[in-house]
Amino acid sequence: YDLRNEDLKDLQELGQGNGGSVKKVEHIPTGKIMAKKIVLIDAKPAVRKQILRELQIMHDCHSKYIISFWGAFLADPNICMCIEFMDKGSLDGIYKKIGPIEIDVVGKVALAVLEGLTYLYDVHRIIHRDIKPSNILCNSQGEIKICDFGVSGELINSIADTFVGTSTYMSPERIQGAQYTVKSDVWSLGISLIELALGRFPFSESLSDDSDLSDFEGTLSPARPGSMGSLAALGLPPSRSKANKGATSKKDKRKSKGVSLQGGGMTMSILELLQHIVNEPAPRLMGFPEEAEAFVDSCLLKDPEKRKTPKDLLNDEWIVYARTSTIDLEAWASTI
Ligand code: ATP
Ligand code: MG
Repeated sequence: YDLRNEDLKDLQELGQGNGGSVKKVEHIPTGKIMAKKIVLIDAKPAVRKQILRELQIMHDCHSKYIISFWGAFLADPNICMCIEFMDKGSLDGIYKKIGPIEIDVVGKVALAVLEGLTYLYDVHRIIHRDIKPSNILCNSQGEIKICDFGVSGELINSIADTFVGTSTYMSPERIQGAQYTVKSDVWSLGISLIELALGRFPFSESLSDDSDLSDFEGTLSPARPGSMGSLAALGLPPSRSKANKGATSKKDKRKSKGVSLQGGGMTMSILELLQHIVNEPAPRLMGFPEEAEAFVDSCLLKDPEKRKTPKDLLNDEWIVYARTSTIDLEAWASTI
């Protein structure tokens, strides 16, 4: 597709994230329905062009577990990416609508994400960096695919310069400033799977009575990859005050070196959550089939040395079972 903004007709708002918004659009010349992601980037034109070049790698990503890429263009001051439209949306929206997701479907999700991660890493040496339910999409054919992976180093840097997304799916080693590896994605997968099976974010109980912790935007900066440093080095006091809520513009908040969390009417310290992830035992899945629990435990090994890679996990007992499972995802998707 030769994509131009003028050829895209907005049909529906699909959602808003930290870095921009996503719309369902029609490409008028072809009638193709797409999802258009608008990313707000505070970067120089040269950097923007570089990002656009780097995004072209997505044209070479072909896997049934990865969202297809239709093209990207600059629409000053934004970068627009057109990707495959998934009519059932993301898994966070799905469980918030229908409640906890049955464990056999969660098994299929785990399989799809591991396949997608293995493909990205083995074929393109890409590490996803942002596995979470909102980046796992589903359609009415029952297909499950991952999106929003870190193809463009410049884009990762630009976003890191302005804001970092919710960091609550971050692995302990990542929080402590270690190098990001494919195993960090495995941790994020483990947290996501618990969230889907329980129908709530796993850390929501340990920290606060406010159950909707998954919705807050934890902003931790500066965060150029690898430069985050240790928690101790951050040396930031927990920001519990509600006083500054609404007092600063969004941009000020992003740029501030502090840490702030706001969501569903609450402001609390992300440090508490990050410290919890580093210091306390990992959350566990309980009351589910043994193989599912064991798989999640292996994703959530706190020592990255002991944690397996996505490729190795494809041989896990539960995943092998999920592969052979005859559960009808198309029928499941029709219930959403
Ligand atoms: P964050 O910005 O913290 O990563 P996010 O993933 O929710 O959060 P976006 O990536 O901007 O933010 O996506 C916003 C919403 O748009 C998603 O939650 C999802 O429901 C929807 N969405 C994204 N891509 C598609 C797509 N290809 N098809 C259908 N819906 C999509
Ligand atoms: Mg996303």
